[in-house]
Amino acid sequence: MKVGFIGLGNMGGPMAANLAAAGHDVIGFDLHAPCPDGVKTAPDAAQCAAGRDVVITMLPNGEILRAVAAQIIPAMQKGAAFLDCSTVDVESARAVATDAVEAGLLALDAPVSGGVGGASGGTLTFMAGGTQAGFAKAAPLFDVMGQKAVHCGPSGNGQAAKICNNMILGVTMIATCEAFALADKLGLDRQKMFDVVSTSSGYSWTMNAYCPAPGVGPTSPADNDYQPGFAADLMLKDLRLSQQAAQAVNADTPLGQSATTLYETFVEHEDGAGRDFSAMLPRFEKRGRK
Ligand code: NAD
Repeated sequence: MKVGFIGLGNMGGPMAANLAAAGHDVIGFDLHAPCPDGVKTAPDAAQCAAGRDVVITMLPNGEILRAVAAQIIPAMQKGAAFLDCSTVDVESARAVATDAVEAGLLALDAPVSGGVGGASGGTLTFMAGGTQAGFAKAAPLFDVMGQKAVHCGPSGNGQAAKICNNMILGVTMIATCEAFALADKLGLDRQKMFDVVSTSSGYSWTMNAYCPAPGVGPTSPADNDYQPGFAADLMLKDLRLSQQAAQAVNADTPLGQSATTLYETFVEHEDGAGRDFSAMLPRFEKRGRK
């Protein structure tokens, strides 16, 4: 397929490289990042999108997505697919999709889970919102860039799935970290705590696959001085999107709200910026009850 790829950062770069390596004709554009091997360079976003079967965007936020969409939608050929893989607010995803469909394009929001490792290894999970026709057109590209793609419903539902998943992840990580810190103070060995919880009803992905305690469970960012991994800053971004969405639809999310406040404090007022989101454990470790 003829693919245009806009936003070649930590995630977009390796995703575009994998598409090119799989034999697709890929042209890329980024304001700063260079095009990876095998990807041709376009002089601007509109020229990157013109004449392509699918145009993929992998951008930092909804505001930038809207600005790029305004440049590329008029340049794209009718019937082409606009595939946004960024994590953005549901409202921006739906607004961009509406403009794309009005211009005769297929539109899909398809944010990803799996991080930089998944982007490089071609093992991302895609959660897609849009029409069946859009999903079918993007499916061969999902096969190259990922291991699974779920069609979640109409436009915006991919973003809805992403922020609901990551709200669970943020809340669960905090619960796991505070439980470890409590166990420490109760004199319970961390390895014993892991052995029990990972095979009991308190098990979770954060405990079993991404244990926040160094030297316990499988290798995780905790074993590498909490270098990300998944940075606390990105967790904060996703939690804020969850709360923005909850506000918009009047959903009661008390734990999502608390997790947002905690990561906000951690990233903006403590030492959390640039650290893995599991570094909540050393944070709790140092604290007492207020
Ligand atoms: P990044 O900052 O590394 O990459 C974004 C790229 O977009 C940058 O290279 C930047 O120069 C480019 N860009 C910004 N404005 C542009 C414009 N107007 N035109 C062209 N290019 C422009 O970020 P990333 O880590 O690659 O994340 C991209 C998206 O994926 C984000 O929405 C993020 O939330 C999401 N995401 C990231 C991860 C992760 O682990 N990094 C995991 C899942 C989802």
